[in-house]
Amino acid sequence: MMSDFVILDTVAGRARLKRSERKTLAISVLPDGTLDLVAPLMAREEMILAKVAKRKAWISKQRREFETMNAKRPALRYVSGATHRYLGRQYRLKVEKGDAPGVVLKGGFLHVRVRTSGENEVREALQSWYRERAKMQFSLRLAEWENWCAKHKLPKPRLRLRAMTKRWGSALKGGTICLNPELIRASALCIDYVIAHEVCHLRHPDHGKKFWNLLAQIMPDWKQRKARLESSGE
Ligand SMILES: [Zn+2]
Repeated sequence: MMSDFVILDTVAGRARLKRSERKTLAISVLPDGTLDLVAPLMAREEMILAKVAKRKAWISKQRREFETMNAKRPALRYVSGATHRYLGRQYRLKVEKGDAPGVVLKGGFLHVRVRTSGENEVREALQSWYRERAKMQFSLRLAEWENWCAKHKLPKPRLRLRAMTKRWGSALKGGTICLNPELIRASALCIDYVIAHEVCHLRHPDHGKKFWNLLAQIMPDWKQRKARLESSGE
């Protein structure tokens, strides 16, 4: 893997260009708007610039989407007093120094014990706690679908946590349901909506009429849940 990059001036602004063994040019826009290019080792710069020019409208659209998303979701702080959501409820952080690092949920507080109270350390402690909780909560909720899947001759759903910037979940053919660990911040109603949605994809991979009919059948109030998930800003 090559991690060094060069800066390239393109019609869509400055880009970071990396080279790799891949066969085609990969163009992506990162959440902060950075244009990221990964080109085949031998690809000529003119060719790269021409391809970026062709995708200019798409790049602008991606940037606008991230801007909207970032404006809706102000950066989370990791200091005492900051609020964080867990299962749809707001909690305040209480950062404590101690030798046994860990996170405890008590009353309306998330007590985060760290060795040094730098924001990075607090963020890491809290993120690994969220991940553990996500794994536990999502597994339990997904397990409730095992009988339903067996009855409908679908593979047994298995959980995989996967960080995603724009999606809460995805379903793979073999029964793997990928869920965004950040979803643990949302309420149980919303988590169950995402799981039901992905389980329906095990039967109907696309968003066709059959898919929505099945979802409405197993979760009649899915629209309210979806709206709630979207408005919670998480
Ligand atoms: Zn879907």
